[in-house]
Amino acid sequence: GCDCKRILKNNWLLITTVVAVVLGIGLGVLVREYGKLSNLDKIYFAFPGEILMRMLKLIILPLIVSSMITGVAALDSSVSGKIGLRAVVYYFCTTVIAVILGIVLVVSIKPGVSQSADEIDRTGSTPEVTTVDAMLDLLRNMFPENLVQACFQQYKTKREELKPSKEPDKNSTVEGNYTIDLALLPLADQQNKSKEYKIVGLYTDGVNVLGLIVFCLVFGIVIGKMGEKGQVLVDFFNALNDATMQIVQIIMWYMPVGILFLIAGKIIEVNDWEIFRKLGLYMATVLSGLAIHSIVILPLIYLIIVRKNPFHFAMGMAQALLTALMISSSSATLPVTFRCAEEKNRIDKRITRFVLPVGATINMDGTALYEAVAAVFIAQLNDMNLDVGQIVTISVTATAASVGAAGVPQAGLVTMVIVLSAVGLPAEDVTLIIAVDWLLDRFRTMVNVLGDAFGTGIVEKLSKRELELMDVTSEVNIANP
Ligand code: ASP
Repeated sequence: GCDCKRILKNNWLLITTVVAVVLGIGLGVLVREYGKLSNLDKIYFAFPGEILMRMLKLIILPLIVSSMITGVAALDSSVSGKIGLRAVVYYFCTTVIAVILGIVLVVSIKPGVSQSADEIDRTGSTPEVTTVDAMLDLLRNMFPENLVQACFQQYKTKREELKPSKEPDKNSTVEGNYTIDLALLPLADQQNKSKEYKIVGLYTDGVNVLGLIVFCLVFGIVIGKMGEKGQVLVDFFNALNDATMQIVQIIMWYMPVGILFLIAGKIIEVNDWEIFRKLGLYMATVLSGLAIHSIVILPLIYLIIVRKNPFHFAMGMAQALLTALMISSSSATLPVTFRCAEEKNRIDKRITRFVLPVGATINMDGTALYEAVAAVFIAQLNDMNLDVGQIVTISVTATAASVGAAGVPQAGLVTMVIVLSAVGLPAEDVTLIIAVDWLLDRFRTMVNVLGDAFGTGIVEKLSKRELELMDVTSEVNIANP
């Protein structure tokens, strides 16, 4: 009895969220069956969920900035280098393992071999970027030309075919709401060498997290090294971080309500369930890969290095995992991931502040696995036999594409273009899997978050000596203020 009460008290938020998910599914099914909602009604219906998403996105900016800066500033730069290196090695190894797992599964299950691409509708729009464009955009986003702009816009490249008849326009073009710089570059298309393109650079909505992280990293190191003089800045960002985490706490109260309507709204909105049967084997391949990665591989790595129960650790992250599943964005889940890692799993804040924001942006095991599976699946649909070189190309580009994908819903679908064009598959074939992507997105995002979470435990364990040494030497310990 007493034990039950304690469990209830410690996990009430998780429990209410689970209840919200169940209620949301029930409500969604009911309204779908009996409520005759117009399209407008559906938007109104999902409104409480929209508000939750807005709140989570709202808090990302102060959260990333304050946690990265304080995280780096608190570490001695020699130590932060070591911890950073360990984190990157962990990110890289787990991502590569995920890709290999995905390839092994899709090559042996062959979900695309029996079907032809024509059986599946080609709907949706055609992406216009190539591998090189995507890689360059990744670098461009690391160095935003304007810090304020980086808080709400990301750089994206678009290609426009130059019509032979039309003289190329040397003036800047207006695309959406933004004025665009035009670089007129005659570039040979992979398929058709005679086509000429102009590169159109544009800014799209969404926080340029990568750019902010790079800046905060440098800024944090610099103010950490300034000593006395920099202390006022360190104190400021520490206070900002504390305040942000308290706002996160408030958002968490609203979370069950938002999630209930998010899931119900999604169930009402989806109108093509038939496609799930058609793409069933493909989905099963992706999902089983994600399951093996998160239930066997990551826990095993954690067990070997940390020597503690990985499932106990994963249970501590349950709230974050559930959130990721519901909102399919690792960036927007970040506030919850922080809380779970620090409050439930008691990971040192000097580790989480560093490992989590970076991980949410570049460490995406689920996305990498998905990209590899999807690319091979599309090759199978196109009756294309992949040789070893092409498989390796897919593995490498899938890893890169997962790093390049932002932690927002369906970002992985966009960076798929990198993988497809690298092996000469038609980029517009991403449209073949668009219909089921919203569902797979949820699960891969969950695995992305789990990978970051295990990363904090593993990097903490590996850095135990440095952290203890710092505790002894430094007078100010920000770990547990
Ligand atoms: N939605 C994923 C995430 O936020 C990215 C993806 O589309 O794979 O982690």
